[in-house]
Amino acid sequence: MKLRRLTRKRATDEVYENLRDAILNRLFVPGERLQVDEIAERLGVSLTPVRHAIQQLATEGLIEIKPRSGTFVATLSLEDIEATFDVRIALECLAAEKAMNVVRPSDLQKLDELLELLRKPVTSEDVLRKHEKANSELHLLLIEAAGNRRLTEIYKGLNAHLTIARIHAAERNTREDPRPAQEITKRFSAEQAEHEEIVAALKARDLPRMQAAVRKHIGRAKASLMDAWKLMDP
Ligand SMILES: [Zn+2]
Repeated sequence: MKLRRLTRKRATDEVYENLRDAILNRLFVPGERLQVDEIAERLGVSLTPVRHAIQQLATEGLIEIKPRSGTFVATLSLEDIEATFDVRIALECLAAEKAMNVVRPSDLQKLDELLELLRKPVTSEDVLRKHEKANSELHLLLIEAAGNRRLTEIYKGLNAHLTIARIHAAERNTREDPRPAQEITKRFSAEQAEHEEIVAALKARDLPRMQAAVRKHIGRAKASLMDAWKLMDP
């Protein structure tokens, strides 16, 4: 009994990871209808783990289940992006408040390592990808430094939407509106200064300074993604 349950749980987790990656990597596009039986067949599993995984993704807001109509990959609007960023600012400010008292020296060391990596100039697509990964890791680390597992879970779920929005906006912009390299360099140096300020404020245990830095940083990211989104076709 116990063994069977474990196996079923693992199948659900694997289907979940698979579908989530497929949505984030645009193998399934926003608004696309998902056929449970077809997915089960393609993944070589039964219908149950696919249904469970879809439920989980619906809870996270990546999939929309419309009664009597079907299951669809969630679509994003400008309002969704704005709302998501506002919640993200609140979560990162809450994390800052908690982290003040409980941040560990090992977290601070990891933050320093990520800042070091982010100081490298972006000279290729490969470095750009590493930068983006380090940027996400830095923010996740700031959340984890608060030592509140619930907060980390909520943050990860929230971020899936922003990842989708970012991928779509970047795709559209490189296709039709290639940003000049100069503009990208300017954006990176602003980002870097903001990251350094956030970490410095944390090290100084200066909460108002850290929260101001977080608001400025995420606020700018919000404005920039919303601008990119507005350039996209409706
Ligand atoms: Zn950042």
